[in-house]
Amino acid sequence: MAQPILHVQGLCKHYKGVKAVDGVDMRLNPGDIYGFLGQNGAGKTTTIRMMMGLIRPSSGSVKLFGEEINGGDTVLRKVGSVIEYPGFYPNLTAIENLEIHRRLMGVKDKGALEDSLRTTGLWDARNRKASNFSLGMKQRLGIARAILHRPELLILDEPTNGLDPMGIKEMRQLIQELAQKRNITILVSSHILSEVEQLATKVGIIHRGVMLEEATMQELKHKNRQYIGLQVDDFAKSQDLLRDELGVRDCRLEDDGWLRVYDEGKQPSEMNRLLVREGIEVSSLVAMKDSLEDYFVRLVEGGAAHA
Ligand code: ATP
Repeated sequence: MAQPILHVQGLCKHYKGVKAVDGVDMRLNPGDIYGFLGQNGAGKTTTIRMMMGLIRPSSGSVKLFGEEINGGDTVLRKVGSVIEYPGFYPNLTAIENLEIHRRLMGVKDKGALEDSLRTTGLWDARNRKASNFSLGMKQRLGIARAILHRPELLILDEPTNGLDPMGIKEMRQLIQELAQKRNITILVSSHILSEVEQLATKVGIIHRGVMLEEATMQELKHKNRQYIGLQVDDFAKSQDLLRDELGVRDCRLEDDGWLRVYDEGKQPSEMNRLLVREGIEVSSLVAMKDSLEDYFVRLVEGGAAHA
């Protein structure tokens, strides 16, 4: 397996009486767009601040490009970030703000300014003062600044916060473009699953400082396919009957003790009739139509119940 770009292990940050981050593990592989999901106050920003060496963990480790970070590290030069709302000099123009950052970061190539502004769709607005920018434009200017030194990893903390639907869509397109055209590995945090669902290749769900689940989008989607769930007194016989009599192809006994039929277009009533006719006791039968959003909510509610 390729070396992870970012590897977080057992990361904790405890404030007086608050476990803001409690034993978080995360792994970003090259090319991932990682959706870091959690409700407000779940611990996303605190985790991100530790990743960037801005605050010290209580325990645990963050490895960037294989190197453990301890603050002030050169490896951080390979990372760009926009954490919370990006701040700018309001009386300076977009390009002037970026120019300051270019010098600060020691980026020699002046062409990087134009490149960043064009990539983020702000080239035409380059001579406007930052104070006249809309929230969406400020977020994009934050990204322009974060990619100026051509990082390999970009960390965006809630970049769609406060944006209207159009702004959210544009932000999604921009993130996708950065990943595809510039080959940047991206971590993007959000409290709304649907905002990262179409984008993310991998998802980590944090709740009250604890990582409830980390999975590839493919795994999550697979898990959340629509299905008909059955509780029966003879799993093997039911499986055979469903296959032979109703042509069911994808029927499995899952770890949670439910027999699940994933085939589309099968009728629960028909299954029930068949099984009962053949002497099988069907104690429960449910048709699940969860969206990923439902799954996220259920997971978080479950996490809340166990907290
Ligand atoms: P949001 O999207 O609202 O920023 P978040 O997921 O980023 O949420 P964090 O900002 O990381 O959450 O906060 C996690 C928890 O840690 C919260 O309960 C917060 O109040 C607490 N917390 C964060 N920073 C501090 C601090 N400096 N001192 C005390 N508690 C803190």
